[in-house]
Amino acid sequence: MDFKADAQRMEKIVSLCKRRGFIFQSSEIYGGLNGAWDYGPLGVELKRNVKNYWWRVMVHERDDSDLMVDCRLTGKRFRADQIPAQSGTVYRFDQARDVIPPESAFEILVSWAADLLPPGESVSRKDSIRLALLVSDHRKFNLPKSNTTPLSIYEFFVEFAKKMSSQPDISENEVDDFLQAYNSPPPETVSGDSIRLLQRKGEDKATILKRAEAFYQLRNIHVPMMWPTTEDVTDSRDFNAENGAELTPPRPFNLMFRTNIGATESEDSIAYLRPETAQSIFVQFKNILEVSRKKLPFGIAQIGKAFRNEINPRNFTFRSREFEQMELEYFCRAEEGMKLLDYWLEERLKFYENIGISRGRLHVKTVPDEERAFYSKGTYDIEFDFPFGFQELEGVAYRTDYDLLQHQKASGKSLEYFDEETKQRFVPHVVEPSAGVDRTVLALICEAYSEDEAPDEKGKMETRLVLRFHPRMAPIKCGIFPLLKNNNQLVAKAKEIVGLLRTHMNVFYDESGAIGRRYRRQDEIGTPFGVTVDFETLGEKDAALRDTVTLRERDSMKQKRVAIKDLAGILSARIS
Ligand code: ATP
Repeated sequence: MDFKADAQRMEKIVSLCKRRGFIFQSSEIYGGLNGAWDYGPLGVELKRNVKNYWWRVMVHERDDSDLMVDCRLTGKRFRADQIPAQSGTVYRFDQARDVIPPESAFEILVSWAADLLPPGESVSRKDSIRLALLVSDHRKFNLPKSNTTPLSIYEFFVEFAKKMSSQPDISENEVDDFLQAYNSPPPETVSGDSIRLLQRKGEDKATILKRAEAFYQLRNIHVPMMWPTTEDVTDSRDFNAENGAELTPPRPFNLMFRTNIGATESEDSIAYLRPETAQSIFVQFKNILEVSRKKLPFGIAQIGKAFRNEINPRNFTFRSREFEQMELEYFCRAEEGMKLLDYWLEERLKFYENIGISRGRLHVKTVPDEERAFYSKGTYDIEFDFPFGFQELEGVAYRTDYDLLQHQKASGKSLEYFDEETKQRFVPHVVEPSAGVDRTVLALICEAYSEDEAPDEKGKMETRLVLRFHPRMAPIKCGIFPLLKNNNQLVAKAKEIVGLLRTHMNVFYDESGAIGRRYRRQDEIGTPFGVTVDFETLGEKDAALRDTVTLRERDSMKQKRVAIKDLAGILSARIS
């Protein structure tokens, strides 16, 4: 992976999106709103094509899906998981410091070892232990070699100083100065960065010291000296059950966007903008089952907005606070769940190929047990090779009967399905392919973005920027150009073609500038076809060519003559 090239590519994509009206930063004129994006004229068309195609293949072309009402509010409050109460010994670390002697102690050490060093060798503070060992060996102290734990290094130096104080040629003051310098907190001492760690069942002191060391290493204290004090606690909820670290006091954490329903604000009117579309489907499961009378397996689809307040917006629209999801909840019998999970993975991969994302740029990650939601029996992430790395485009998850069971419990309403054949009642299981509209749009733009070489008006080769969208996804399907804008007949004919094609597809009329420039402008926004009305169209050169036009293809740049009456048929076949 070439990070620099990929970062440059991403920059070019973001800039093109703004310049050509695909995506703008939200509230840009007021300095921008972090994590929110607005779609420009072309972006809206592209997004609509994605959603329409998803709806077509996931609902209209299937007998087993139904549509869903769009609702953006969720009434269910989010409650934090209960933190387990724990008892045990708490180690409190108040201070950590580097156990290597600070500069002033190091200088004294160098003076003691000066005669023992090879002439001209320069030493640094990192060599302190070696210097002390040289002195110790020379004076026959028989000091045990310290191991590398901070405590033993500290004890080694204290012992070393004690031995030095018994040496006739070393003054007591000198040793005192060394010890004082060594014991006094050096500038890099971290004070205030104290932690409390709970010793959990089966853990020894060494594990706690290791954990504290990791804590200080994160703060750049690499050989910390730590003096823990201990206390016992019973039934405390102050510690993380997984690593024993003390938890910070509870702070309000905005996972979702909170609002109030109605004109007056009260505790009872609190509602949240939904963080995923799925739950509105589960909540309406009973109603939809009653009105549609579908038999299992069947799906309920929804495209709609989702809002997440807790995320760190990044990578352009990839992670936003407000985004759109396309979700299908596919209800089934428990025994079908795992098979349907694989079935939906394949269906969804086909979808991406059909909108122009090559299989080679997609990666399927089987989400490992420890990363999977606890209620899921199997999850695949479909990832796309974005310029910023492989990242999730869609999750396909077998969510079991967890959601419906939860809603059944909370609402007290039965969410069971009655099987006419077996006369059994049960809560169905569900497989969920959940895709992001915005991420799909971004993937399409990233996949389509390319630069090649093409001749300019004078035949000189220049870099051509092209968005190679699949015709099905392209925001504009065909550009229509009269060769000259000041020839009434050419203009009238071109406008006639606009009228002819407009009922079938989104077209764009452009009469300004040289024809080559007009082609380039359309290449840059991914318009797959261009139709040029020229003098042959008017029958001026050859009567047989009357009412024919040149049809140009964006990718090959090849042109061929086709009859105007055949245009709609030819283009529609390529687009659908
Ligand atoms: P991620 O881990 O990448 O944040 P997620 O696992 O939280 O995603 P899901 O909850 O499974 O995502 O949502 C399903 C789909 O919705 C994702 O695959 C993605 O396409 C889209 N999506 C989720 N969060 C965001 C977001 N913050 N911005 C844009 N799209 C999103």
